[in-house]
Amino acid sequence: MKDNTRVNHPPAVAVPADNRPLVAPIFQSVKFSFDDAAETQRYLHGEREGFFYSRTANPTLRQLELSLAQLQGREDCLLTGSGVASVAASLLSLCKQGDHVLAFVESYAPTRYIVQHLLAKFGVTHTLLSIEDLAGIERVLRETPTRLVVFESPTNPVTKIADIEHLTVHARRAGCLTVLDNTFAGFHNHGAYDVDIFLHSLTKYASGHGDVMGGAIIASRPLIAQMRKDVSTMGPTLDPHAAFLIQRGMRTYFLRYERQCANALVVSRFLSTHPRVKRLFYPGLDTHPQHLLAKRQARDFGAVVSFELDGGHEEGGRFAAALQFFSIAASVGSTESLVMPPQLLGPGEFTAEQRAASLITRGTVRLSIGLEDAEDLIEDLKQALGRAFD
Ligand SMILES: *Cc1c(COP(=O)(O)O)cnc(C)c1O
Repeated sequence: MKDNTRVNHPPAVAVPADNRPLVAPIFQSVKFSFDDAAETQRYLHGEREGFFYSRTANPTLRQLELSLAQLQGREDCLLTGSGVASVAASLLSLCKQGDHVLAFVESYAPTRYIVQHLLAKFGVTHTLLSIEDLAGIERVLRETPTRLVVFESPTNPVTKIADIEHLTVHARRAGCLTVLDNTFAGFHNHGAYDVDIFLHSLTKYASGHGDVMGGAIIASRPLIAQMRKDVSTMGPTLDPHAAFLIQRGMRTYFLRYERQCANALVVSRFLSTHPRVKRLFYPGLDTHPQHLLAKRQARDFGAVVSFELDGGHEEGGRFAAALQFFSIAASVGSTESLVMPPQLLGPGEFTAEQRAASLITRGTVRLSIGLEDAEDLIEDLKQALGRAFD
């Protein structure tokens, strides 16, 4: 073997079966080989276990898929390179021309874009309601044959709580699938409800550290099998190294989520008594209009706290800039605290009615609470609220 051949065929190192690493290795390999064409064909025909090409399946991704499916209480999972890839790929895979989708004003803006623009290009129609319009939801599901209901809870940014029981009962009765983007609530919440498909941005609480992106589609084995071929052919694959980092993040998922919730509760209690805060949105406070529903549906209330500042863009901008421990940045669920001032939370292309339903005003501020000391966060918010109105 010449050296230029040797560098392309490095020696294989086998780990004995009774000698396991505690952390699974990263299978940073695009290709997996069988000994002969017959075994390769058996794999490709679904007649044996194995791996062949990492766009379709990879052992590092498989470990994360199984782990997330178990946590969410479903049979199977399909990973993608970002959260929006999970939304786009699942909706494109599940819908066909002529289908109708029910979505909500309060949904994550890119999800609304996918429904209103991307699916619409392929002849999929939609209705956009407020998540609080229970009568409207019943009416649409009764009168319009609907393929999917796509929703979130708590919603972004004002933490409205969807009535999951109501939605799933009426959707099931209408023969319509439910898709819950469960990113804000997490894998440990909502699994007991009759939801068909859960979506998650792994960029948020799963990875937790703000250094890697990913998405997950979690559902029954037949639904995932049906979507896997479409999604892997669209190609939004998660890289094995990213899957490894997310798996590592998951080891501290509960510790982080619980502490971030505890910090968020302390911060919301402080903000709710501040004279410059007109209205506070945190489902863990009993002043939240849906506190009881939130408590019935979920084990905890998340790390996103929003409020309406007694001011507009100018005060909101000064407040955000004056904060020391909150960075002005997109995303939520990281170990460090983040702030989105009102000018960055624009409600987009809404009608006046939809804008009113969104509850987003010129004073809305969104906070994502991290793992800093709660007292430090409160001191920081106090001084920045003072500076905002200097
Ligand atoms: C962030 C987010 C997404 C998109 O996730 P990315 O990983 O940023 O693509 C989807 N849904 C919700 C609710 C989110 O918060």
